[in-house]
Amino acid sequence: MKLQDSVVAITGGGQGLGRAMAVYLASKGVKLALIDLNQDRLDEAVALCEKAGSEAKSYLCNVAKEDDVISTFDAISRDFGQLNGLVNNAGILRDGLLIKAKDGEIVKRMSIEQWQSVIDVNLTGVFLCGREAATQMIQNNNQGCIINISSISQAGNMGQTNYSAAKAGVSAMSVTWAKELARYGIRSMAVAPGFIATEMTASMKPEALEMMASQIPLRRMGEPDEIAQTIAYILENDYLSGRVIEVDGGLRV
Ligand code: NAD
Repeated sequence: MKLQDSVVAITGGGQGLGRAMAVYLASKGVKLALIDLNQDRLDEAVALCEKAGSEAKSYLCNVAKEDDVISTFDAISRDFGQLNGLVNNAGILRDGLLIKAKDGEIVKRMSIEQWQSVIDVNLTGVFLCGREAATQMIQNNNQGCIINISSISQAGNMGQTNYSAAKAGVSAMSVTWAKELARYGIRSMAVAPGFIATEMTASMKPEALEMMASQIPLRRMGEPDEIAQTIAYILENDYLSGRVIEVDGGLRV
């Protein structure tokens, strides 16, 4: 795919990895449709994309809500007249052990709210946005690419029953969509980052972060731009589909 003048939607585009991807792609001439829950963050991200030399529009939308997602992708199609890419990046953490017990007594359990909120955003949100983006791409007769942001936690990570299950699902959906959507000229990929320095990881306990960083063979956390570069590479390479690229400094859980 030629990046110049293509239109790419990014969920969770207001901050962190989504914002870094948006600014990086804007510097390559991509027009951005940024989707997020936070209007202030969106406004900042749009201004940064414009500063980087491209066009961007913001869409306030909860990716877990079907009506919101349908009307947002309709609006993107109307505003830009085309859609060539989607990065399903919005995600949340609600970490906790499945069960914590002491001396045979149950002390704490993962609540259904903890489970459901992460599944709603990180799994259902990806399903809804992927479905609506593919619908618009087919109706507009656009070639396209959908990239889902998975995680190193897809392999299973302590304290992340909800998040690991969602991220494994996201990786599997990417492979499924590559098989189903190729006939319409749509590719589908996933990126599984390791530990990247964003607001999300800043919210983790410092001792957990320090422990993780010490186990990364490259001995540092990744930078948001290193994920953004991978997104551009996937969009540009028309023979990539149905695979999960791990960008984790050599770390395996
Ligand atoms: P972040 O918390 O900094 O940003 C996430 C963005 O998503 C925020 O702007 C937030 O407002 C938005 N968002 C949350 N829920 C939403 C919803 N329901 N609808 C619309 N927008 C919503 O997180 P990040 O570190 O930039 O992570 C981005 C993605 O990368 C996530 O899917 C995360 O799971 C994944 N990831 C991050 C890391 C990391 O180390 N940072 C590692 C692996 C995977």
